[in-house]
Amino acid sequence: MNYNAQSFGKPINIITLILSLLAIIGYAFNIESLYRPITGGPATHPLTATLIILLTISNLLSYLSHSRKWPLTFVLIPLAILISKLIDLSSDTNLSVHITPFLSVVEQDTLDNKSNTMGLNTTLMLLLVTLSYLSFFSRYLIFSQLCAFLALSFPMVSITGYAYGLESFYGDMSLLSTTFGVFICLTALSITANIGGIKAILSPYIGGRIARVQVVLGYTVPLIIGYMVILSVVNSNQIGAFGIYVVAISWFIILLVVASAIFQERVDFQRRAVEHALIAASFTDYLTTLPNRRRFMERAEQLLQQCIEDDSDLWVLMIDIDHFKKVNDSAGHAVGDQVLIQVAQTLSQSIEKEDLVCRLGGEEFAVLAIRKPQSNITDYANKLRESVAATVVDGYTELYGKVSISLGCSLFKNSIDSTLQSADEALYTSKESGRNRVTVYKPSEVQNSPYSAACKI
Ligand code: GH3
Ligand code: MG
Ligand code: MG
Repeated sequence: MNYNAQSFGKPINIITLILSLLAIIGYAFNIESLYRPITGGPATHPLTATLIILLTISNLLSYLSHSRKWPLTFVLIPLAILISKLIDLSSDTNLSVHITPFLSVVEQDTLDNKSNTMGLNTTLMLLLVTLSYLSFFSRYLIFSQLCAFLALSFPMVSITGYAYGLESFYGDMSLLSTTFGVFICLTALSITANIGGIKAILSPYIGGRIARVQVVLGYTVPLIIGYMVILSVVNSNQIGAFGIYVVAISWFIILLVVASAIFQERVDFQRRAVEHALIAASFTDYLTTLPNRRRFMERAEQLLQQCIEDDSDLWVLMIDIDHFKKVNDSAGHAVGDQVLIQVAQTLSQSIEKEDLVCRLGGEEFAVLAIRKPQSNITDYANKLRESVAATVVDGYTELYGKVSISLGCSLFKNSIDSTLQSADEALYTSKESGRNRVTVYKPSEVQNSPYSAACKI
């Protein structure tokens, strides 16, 4: 997977930080529109903006610093403030008043009958985001994601309220706080984007694509239908109840979609893993783990194109272990297998990086060698031959002596198959002339006299 699901949170976090700083600047320099986006509507309370700033800084620090100390500190302060705010909301205390910046502006707004409070919705939302961060830092990732997900429902209710004109839905949550809310919840969700439901929804595979469409439709369709129904029952006093119904339905649909996306992603992940393993197995030789003949043919086509583009040579080297039958006969089939494995390992370590060695079958191997002039190919082939001769195979070489190979080399001609055939003819010449040697295919001479005139090195 070559995308970073977590990266979408970083820019959102920066935007949230800038917006909340702007709200504070609005308070500091008396620019009301910066903290009260709709004239006469609710304002973003200075404590809300401060808490958002602290949470966004905590998020930034979690990316920038290696230690958890500072991000954690910037979460524990909001936690303390939010608990005192909850105490204020549930009893008649005024604890949070003492820590509210720009209190005089808030008090003046109250006197002027303008809405400027940090209500229960905003408090609960920020508390859930804070808990999400805390659980993330404590490695309770699924719980972190669940908290962020629940937190998102508060600004969503507020958005529905603004969309339907239902004041009781957004209450004291300003449009700005609603936007902050959505952004900070998305940021909190992004930090656990590589697991659970968020991973499933953001998956680039079919499950994720279906889930994303379902989430968007699952939210917007009920919202639009609800709006149309509200228009038709505008005079009845059922609108509030209906709004709750719509929000509950859309939230239920989203939860359902996420659950099915998790399941689908899990099944699809296993299927993709099996598929990758099968594809890899179909191109690999089981015994030696070298690429097999199928991979050889595929790679040959690719290298050929490369050589045509750079106007360089493509060589095919056919390799066959000498008297391998005797290895099996003298030391047994199991040791024969070990010889094959060791020779394969030696060859793959001895070829150049851009070349390819494969096991064609039995005790036959082939190398695709590129960008080697004719004068170098014999040295290259001899280097491979000498490396194999120097290979030690436990249970064989100390008892029966060195393993040797014969090689036949051919420059690419017409097709891969005909090149393999030419290399095979040169290999045959190596065998005929005594084995443990290299022969380079010479077209005209071999055509006249198949074996005698090939060049023995
Ligand atoms: P030459 O020098 O002419 O190549 O003689 P050779 O004995 O190497 O060639 P021959 O074709 O007569 O024998 C190849 C042997 O390789 C026969 C076969 O049993 C053995 N062989 C093929 N595949 C495997 C394998 O996977 N494992 C083992 N242990 N032996 C294998
Ligand atoms: Mg053979
Ligand atoms: Mg052989």
